[in-house]
Amino acid sequence: MNIALIAHDKKKNDLVQFVTAYQTIFAKHTLFATGTTGLRINEATGLELTRFKSGPLGGDQEIGAMIAKNKMDAVFFFRDPLTAQPHEPDVTALVRLCDVYSIPLATNMGSAELLIRGLDQGLLEWRNVMKNGESNGK
Ligand code: PGA
Repeated sequence: MNIALIAHDKKKNDLVQFVTAYQTIFAKHTLFATGTTGLRINEATGLELTRFKSGPLGGDQEIGAMIAKNKMDAVFFFRDPLTAQPHEPDVTALVRLCDVYSIPLATNMGSAELLIRGLDQGLLEWRNVMKNGESNGK
């Protein structure tokens, strides 16, 4: 599965901690992240990630583009609900695209626990069925 990891500055420690705790699961998947989040995760865990631009410089939109192309299967986006973000429109757009394409999105530690455990139990296999159907021209 292709997984996106994004955290606003005040939530980066939480996401790094979370990915570290579930490192063995994340290691089985293909990981993508916004610039600084990806760097922090790589430094802490050694996990390989494709790093996009930093969120405020377009990284959220790059991940959104992958969603629109049906190339992202799950998104962990630890948002900071208490700090105004200069790229709020991009944040809203990313969340919106997850809803448009029914991509599972965890925006906090509580839902992230459920999403990663569900993913590990194969509960997102419908994504592969969908992608295979698409490549068969359906
Ligand atoms: P960053 O971007 O990982 O480069 O900090 C995340 C964001 O703020 O959207």
